[in-house]
Amino acid sequence: MFGVVPKALWSRVCRSDENNLIVLTLRSLIIETDGRIILVDTGWGDKQDEKFFRHVHLHNGEGLLGGLAKRGYGREDITDVVFTHLHADHCGGAVRKKPEGTGYEVVFPEATYHASRTQWEWACKNNMREEDAFLEENFLPVSESGRLSLVDEEGELFKGFSLRICYGHTPGLMVPVISYNGRTLVYTGDLIPTIAHLPLIWNMSYDIESLKTIEEKKQILEEALEKNYVLVFQHDETVECCTLEMTPKGIRAKDKFSFSEIR
Ligand SMILES: [Zn+2]
Repeated sequence: MFGVVPKALWSRVCRSDENNLIVLTLRSLIIETDGRIILVDTGWGDKQDEKFFRHVHLHNGEGLLGGLAKRGYGREDITDVVFTHLHADHCGGAVRKKPEGTGYEVVFPEATYHASRTQWEWACKNNMREEDAFLEENFLPVSESGRLSLVDEEGELFKGFSLRICYGHTPGLMVPVISYNGRTLVYTGDLIPTIAHLPLIWNMSYDIESLKTIEEKKQILEEALEKNYVLVFQHDETVECCTLEMTPKGIRAKDKFSFSEIR
């Protein structure tokens, strides 16, 4: 998760076990706007076998459907699913094995599924670096369902819900920017997965093009600092949100708070 940053440095801000494993969260978002109920990212899902998940060490969470149910949403309520990108831990929960036997089906039967065209074509083509992350059973059934909608450009997708498109982590990574209670939230996804990834060169080894990630992070962080945006972290175990401040070392977190405290 920290690429070339030595453990002597990252271990000061991120606890790990004897196998160097760290705890990460899969934090999806639900947004209600304009009569729509939008779900951003869907976690791993449960299609792959035990051997696959042995390396993932799933534990604790509510689960996608459990978490939605707890907040009063059923599968049929979701009108739109937005995939930041198609790595398995971001889109797997949108497709499941058919309960009656063979084949796959989408989990949210009424939803339109949005991915960037760049990411969709990149994932379908696949490549050696990302082949463990792009699992076709996670996304081909979405297009077979006829419910896929490809995003060609940055901009507003729904009222108060816009998308930026980045290329460093994987080509076509979409970063949602959301208006909420008078604030602007940036769901940083795998561009800035945890609060520990705010320093420009603290990036994941998963990134396809590190220099692009640095440039894209710099741009978003500078804008977020200037306009007092709230960053929302998808993978941070403990910090859901933060604002930013300039320090002698660069842009860092100012206030850390939970989603329910945004005002
Ligand atoms: Zn990713």
